[in-house]
Amino acid sequence: MSIFKTRRKEIEYCTFCPKMCRFSCPVANATARETHTPWGRMTILHFVNDGKQEFNREVVVNTYKCLTCMLCNTYCEHKIDVPGTMLDARAAAVQMQIIPREVQEYRTSFLEHNNPVGEDLLSRLRGIVPKSLFNAGAQVGYFASCGNIYNYPNVITDTFKVFEALGIDYVAVHDGQIQCSGYTLNVLGLTKDYKLHAQRVADELQKYKTVIAADPSDAYELKFRYKEIGVDLAPQVLHISEFLMPFFEQNKVPIKTPFPKKVIWHDPCYLGRYLGVYEAPRLILQAICREPVGEFSWNREDSYCCGGGGGMPITNPEISMQIARHRLSEVLESEGKTLVSNCPTCERMFQKADPQVDVRDLVSLIARTL
Ligand code: SF4
Ligand code: SF4
Repeated sequence: MSIFKTRRKEIEYCTFCPKMCRFSCPVANATARETHTPWGRMTILHFVNDGKQEFNREVVVNTYKCLTCMLCNTYCEHKIDVPGTMLDARAAAVQMQIIPREVQEYRTSFLEHNNPVGEDLLSRLRGIVPKSLFNAGAQVGYFASCGNIYNYPNVITDTFKVFEALGIDYVAVHDGQIQCSGYTLNVLGLTKDYKLHAQRVADELQKYKTVIAADPSDAYELKFRYKEIGVDLAPQVLHISEFLMPFFEQNKVPIKTPFPKKVIWHDPCYLGRYLGVYEAPRLILQAICREPVGEFSWNREDSYCCGGGGGMPITNPEISMQIARHRLSEVLESEGKTLVSNCPTCERMFQKADPQVDVRDLVSLIARTL
């Protein structure tokens, strides 16, 4: 039986590899289980392909123990797509009705509200920003993200404070009924639901020339993943840090009070490894901070996941939190550091893992210095 025909070659490469990426996988490092290494997950699928292992619930549950963080890919000579293979396996499991309970529950709730938080997010958004920012005729739309609308409304208001200081009056808050790209539907293997959702989001966003996404995973979904599943989205898509970078390069930002404390920058997986954006946040931080910007020992292409990727906070919350704590341990070792990121998932994971750590969003930090 070959469930994963299109991935057969990749699965074989891993199976016969001396586990070159073994040390990098945050999940395997957290659980110390060989079946949770990139090699382990792929080898199990190799046995499924060869008919030596049934594609059963136990195998399926193992495919959900991946953050889709792509860190293994950094160390893979053959650039094997382990997370992509896990997503294909999850989709196959959903099709065969082998669906973990948490995934089923997530699906039911998501389909009711078109987002993961169980509320009408457009109404909530209307309570956050003034009416004047919902300009139906605007050519540039700001996609706030469900994570920011629900957990970090201040990031949205801070973004428009920054725009105002830069004289940007042509960006409107996106007024669509759907305020979520559907990232989690995709990573949970809910492919059919994801495609329908993506089409609806794309229909609502087509009116813009440019979409500025606040959340890097949204930016990735809108820019690349939608196309891969056959959903065309005409507007150019930029993450907020990419949109703001030229203003800093051209010294157009009126910084009044540089941030006085030492900061350390966390590269979100989807901003870094998926979108390839490493310089923009660093350039911005250098401009707004008095002290030199600190780096994690695992940074840029090597950045360690916050534990929030791949739907793992839903399917494996304890492992997820363990990974967040591991990442934070480096910040806690040196006193007085402020952790800065630009992703509502990373920020939420870190704040939940240790509420004592000073976690800031990049755009909110810019707003504070103006
Ligand atoms: S992802 Fe690459 S390095 Fe890791 S086990 Fe597979 S082939 Fe080896
Ligand atoms: S994508 Fe991340 S979590 Fe998944 S196997 Fe690779 S390193 Fe591990």
